[in-house]
Amino acid sequence: MKFELPKLPYEIAALEPHLSANTLEFHYHRHHRGYLEKLRGLIEGTPQAKLELPDLVTRSTGEIFNNAAQVWNHTFYWNSMTPDGGGDPSGPIGQAIASSFGSLATFRKEFIASAVGLFGSGYVWLTFDSARERVAIEPMKDAESPLRVGRVPLLGMDVWEHAYYLDYQNARQRYVEAFLSHLANWRFADANLETCHSHGAS
Ligand code: MN
Repeated sequence: MKFELPKLPYEIAALEPHLSANTLEFHYHRHHRGYLEKLRGLIEGTPQAKLELPDLVTRSTGEIFNNAAQVWNHTFYWNSMTPDGGGDPSGPIGQAIASSFGSLATFRKEFIASAVGLFGSGYVWLTFDSARERVAIEPMKDAESPLRVGRVPLLGMDVWEHAYYLDYQNARQRYVEAFLSHLANWRFADANLETCHSHGAS
């Protein structure tokens, strides 16, 4: 079966104390798996079952889009975090952020404002905009995906309440700060940024 739940890239409690095992237990084993099972049921026996997941995300609509995008988004989100992550990025992503936002401090302020200001459910994406040659912060509602607007996702943060409510209740900002200070996987962002350049974005 092509559509499988990818393994978490770390142990279920590895992001504690910033995200609890309880949160990951529900988020990964119930929510992520739930979207995957729903998607399988929707596409079983249809020509769409033969497509790859990113193609389903960019080409489908309605329920199939919602569930396909949520499967893809969550896998990307797990990889966007790592134990002992966060802090100021060095490396190519650090330089790209500093040149796109003026400073890492400005980036941090804008990222937090964007995440706190996203009404309802969605994701804050750090993307590379090849046309403008810059890194951008893009809040998107519900399951919306950078893949649909021609952007390369570098990092993704889930701000649906189920991502943080068990640990932070309504204090979304504290979750966002923990993500930036302790969890963001800058090496993953570096690897994603690298693909932009190897595709001739210069
Ligand atoms: Mn989620």
